[in-house]
Amino acid sequence: MSTVLVIGAGGVSSVCVHKMAMNKDIFPEIHLASRTKSKCDAIAKSVKERTGVDVATYEIDAEEVPAMVNLIRKVEPSLVVNLALPYQDLPIMDACLEAGVDYLDTANYEPKDEAKFEYHWQWAYHDRFKEAGLMALLGSGFDPGVTSVFTMWLKKHKLKTIRQLDILDCNGGDHGQAFATNFNPEINIREVTAPARHWENGEFVETPAMAKKVEFDFEAVGKKNMYMMYHEELESLAKFNPELERARFWMTFGDEYIKHLTVLQNVGMTRIDPVKYQGKEIIPLQFLAAVLPKPETLGETTKGNTNIGVIATGEALDGSGEKTFYINNICSHEAAYEETGNQAVSYTTGVPAMIGSAMMVQGTWEGDGVFNMEQMDPDPFMDMLNDHGLPWQVKELDGPVDF
Ligand code: NDP
Repeated sequence: MSTVLVIGAGGVSSVCVHKMAMNKDIFPEIHLASRTKSKCDAIAKSVKERTGVDVATYEIDAEEVPAMVNLIRKVEPSLVVNLALPYQDLPIMDACLEAGVDYLDTANYEPKDEAKFEYHWQWAYHDRFKEAGLMALLGSGFDPGVTSVFTMWLKKHKLKTIRQLDILDCNGGDHGQAFATNFNPEINIREVTAPARHWENGEFVETPAMAKKVEFDFEAVGKKNMYMMYHEELESLAKFNPELERARFWMTFGDEYIKHLTVLQNVGMTRIDPVKYQGKEIIPLQFLAAVLPKPETLGETTKGNTNIGVIATGEALDGSGEKTFYINNICSHEAAYEETGNQAVSYTTGVPAMIGSAMMVQGTWEGDGVFNMEQMDPDPFMDMLNDHGLPWQVKELDGPVDF
């Protein structure tokens, strides 16, 4: 029987807390804290209406380590689930170490003044978590998260080694707005405007942002342009699969999204360095995020599906030569909204956050130190995906991708 403390009250947190409440046997006591308590209260109200479960709520600035430590000591959770922003990863890990509790997140740490997506800051905590006998699980969302688990499942059940890997993230949803992001706009735009990087022959190769485009026909969505970009799981996948010759990440964007983003970039609105405005320093991207539609308000109008998966080519486990497999999940925005009041991008992240938490509080995944998803047995996680709203399918392709 475990108590969990969830930090952050955005779309991902909302889905995760709803799903935890739907699994009362695993999560009998749920506490939710964020910077704005009214957002926690709104989630708690929806959870109560939908499931009958009570969620205790608190106000916290997660960057204030002593306040976080006090809250953890008061709540006495066995796990802190960080669903705030990547900037809070390190202070929350510090608080977990001081209060002696396990940690989970869905996105790697980013410094506020530089759009750098690297694990080294969090990997540096490994020895301290290990010495304290605590576990930190990094990146238990969809990508990173499920994409890493998909890859390791293929390596356990289909392929002895993986030579080539492509992660395909397609959001075929239409929210009816000219421009909006499906998760936190600041984090999303930092990610999309950063240079692309892919793994090739033992090193990362950097290319300009959004420079490589390929059309792909996604099941349950149709043909979409996808763009090569950097995504943090490439670093952990390359680390834990040293045989990889090439690993790339692709995300679909519509022409309208690209058009708006290009203009915003050209006029300087995506800058993350401070600008003096009326005697005050502002960060243009933070101001832009404040005027864009809030991702949690898009749920009601978003129609269509997401289709996220992994195509891997390598030597078959059964000795039958080189094989290529495609493993993916298709998620309906409407069904996600019906179940939790949130669209599918929050759903596909919040459900794996719940499942990763379940793996930890039940002791299915154990360890002392800081771990990535690639280091854990994929099977129990894959089973829970099927049972909790993100069913997956795997099929063999004729050969490696031709792009
Ligand atoms: P939102 O912006 O909707 O929610 C973030 C929440 O964190 C808000 O409630 C915000 O508070 C809170 N918060 C921000 N700063 C602090 C702070 N200092 N102390 C306490 N709370 C704080 O984001 P999402 O729900 O869309 O995303 C949540 C996380 O999930 C992000 O880290 C994102 O990168 C990650 N993600 C991961 C994905 C994956 O597949 N792995 C995919 C999508 C997202 P307030 O309401 O006051 O602003």
